[in-house]
Amino acid sequence: MEESKDRIFPIEDALEMIIMFDGAGKVAYANAIARQKLEYEDDLCGVHISSVFPNTFQETEIITEEKCVTGRDFRNLVAYRKNHTCFPVEARITHSDDGGKDVYICMANDILKKEYLSREVERVREEAQQALKVKSEFVANVTHELRTPVNGILGNIREMLEREWDEQSLKQLHLIERCCDDMNKIINNILDFSKLEAGKFTLEPRKFHFRNMLDYVKGNHINKITEKGLEFFMTVSPRVPEYVIGDELRIVQVLNNLLSNAQKFTSLGKITVEVLRTAQMEGRTELFFIISDTGIGIDKADRDKLFQSFSQVDASISRKYGGTGLGLNICKQLVELMGGRIEVESEKNRGSTFSFSIWVETCGEDADSHTVQDSRKSLYGSESMEDGGKKKEDVRCFGTPENTEALKRNLSKLILCVEMENWEKAEMFMDTVRQLTEEAPHEVKRVVLRLKMAIQKENYEKVTAEFEELNHYL
Ligand code: ADP
Repeated sequence: MEESKDRIFPIEDALEMIIMFDGAGKVAYANAIARQKLEYEDDLCGVHISSVFPNTFQETEIITEEKCVTGRDFRNLVAYRKNHTCFPVEARITHSDDGGKDVYICMANDILKKEYLSREVERVREEAQQALKVKSEFVANVTHELRTPVNGILGNIREMLEREWDEQSLKQLHLIERCCDDMNKIINNILDFSKLEAGKFTLEPRKFHFRNMLDYVKGNHINKITEKGLEFFMTVSPRVPEYVIGDELRIVQVLNNLLSNAQKFTSLGKITVEVLRTAQMEGRTELFFIISDTGIGIDKADRDKLFQSFSQVDASISRKYGGTGLGLNICKQLVELMGGRIEVESEKNRGSTFSFSIWVETCGEDADSHTVQDSRKSLYGSESMEDGGKKKEDVRCFGTPENTEALKRNLSKLILCVEMENWEKAEMFMDTVRQLTEEAPHEVKRVVLRLKMAIQKENYEKVTAEFEELNHYL
C-alpha cells in the first residue's frame, strides 16, 4: 500500500475522502482523510466497502457499474466508522478499467461538517449585520444627543454676542461660536455617513430655482475666498434650466464641501465653478459641475484613496486644516444616489479639478428633449483657462511684476492681521507668501522662513523686523 500511496500522492492529501475498491467490493486504497474520518488508523485496505456503506452495499454482493456508479452526480450516503458510529456524506462513484479489472472510485464529503460550516457562516453574517445595525443606531443616537447641547451653547453664545461690547470677551465668544459651528459640521457628517452606510439615506427632491441655489452657495464661500486674496469665477451654461426638481439641500452639501476644500487648500490664484447641461431625456437632465482650484494639488497615489471614508492625504496638512476625512466619501455617495459620479484630476502644486454629474428632473419648457446640450470637452480646453494658466505661472515666478505685486499685497494683509493679533489668519497669508517665494534666491527664502517662525511663535517684534527685511528685497 505504501507504494500505491506514493503513486497516487496528489489524492493522498486531498480534502475529499477518496476510496478505491474492486468488483468484489474490496477496498484497494483510501486516502489520508478517509482513513482519519472513518477511524481506520491501521488502514482501510482489504476491508469490504459494505463496512463503510452498509446501507448501500452488501458483503456478498458483486458490485456492478449500473448499481453504484453516479458519474458526476452526487448521492447522499451514510458512512460508518470502524466503531459503527455514522455520519452523512455526499458521494460520487465512478468506474474505471485497470487492465481488464474493474476499479470503482468513491469521492465523498462529510456534509455534517459542510452544513455546520455553512450554518456558522450564516450565523457570523447575521451577527455582523446586527453589529452594523447596532453601530449605526448608536452613532445616530449619539450624534443626535450631541447636537442638542451644541446647539444650546450656540444659541446662548449668539445671545451673549448681541449684549457683549468688551473686545476681549467678544473675541472669545466668537471663538466659541466657531468651535460650535465646526462641531456641528462634524456631527452632521458623521450622521450622514452612518445613514448612507446603513442604506437608510433617502433623497428629498423638490422644485427649486437653480441659479438662486448657486448664488446661495457662492455667498457661503465668497468672503473667505476673497479674504485669502483669491479670485473666484462662477459660470453657468445658458442651457441649464431655470428650475429643476432635485434634492437642493444635498446638491448644496456637495458643492459646499468641494468649495470649502478648494478654499482650504488654495493660497494663491483662483477658484472656478462651472455648470453645464450634458444630457437631456424624457424630462430628466444631466448636470455637470466642475470645481477647479490652483492650490496644493494631490499626488496620483493619494488621488486613488481620496473618496474612501476617513481618508486624508497628509496627516500634517489635515492637522493644520482640520476635517474628518469623511467629506469626499459622503459627496461620492450622494452624487451616486443622484445617478451620477464624481472624479478628480490634479497635479501636485498646480491645483485640482473635481467634477461631478447628477440627474435632475425638469419641468415645463425645460423638459424639451430636443434642446442642445453642452459638451464637457469644450470647457476643459477653453482658451480662458489657458490664459489663467499663464497668469498663474507669472505670479509664481519671483521678481516678475505680478509676483512682486502679489507679494506686497499679501505681506500688507499679513502685517495687518499681526497688528490685530489674528495669528491664525496671518499664518494663512504666510502660506501664500511662502508659495510666492518658492523660486526666490536663498537669502530671501531664509527671511521668509524666519518670518514664518516668528508668526508661529506669535512674536510681534520679530515679525515686524523680518517683515522690514523682506521688504528690502521687493
Ligand atoms: P475633510 O473633511 O477632512 O476635508 P475630505 O474628504 O473633504 O475630508 O477631503 C479629504 C482630503 O482630500 C483632505 O484632507 C485633503 O487632504 C484632500 N483634498 C480634498 N480636496 C482637496 C483640494 N481641492 N486640494 C488639495 N487636497 C484636497
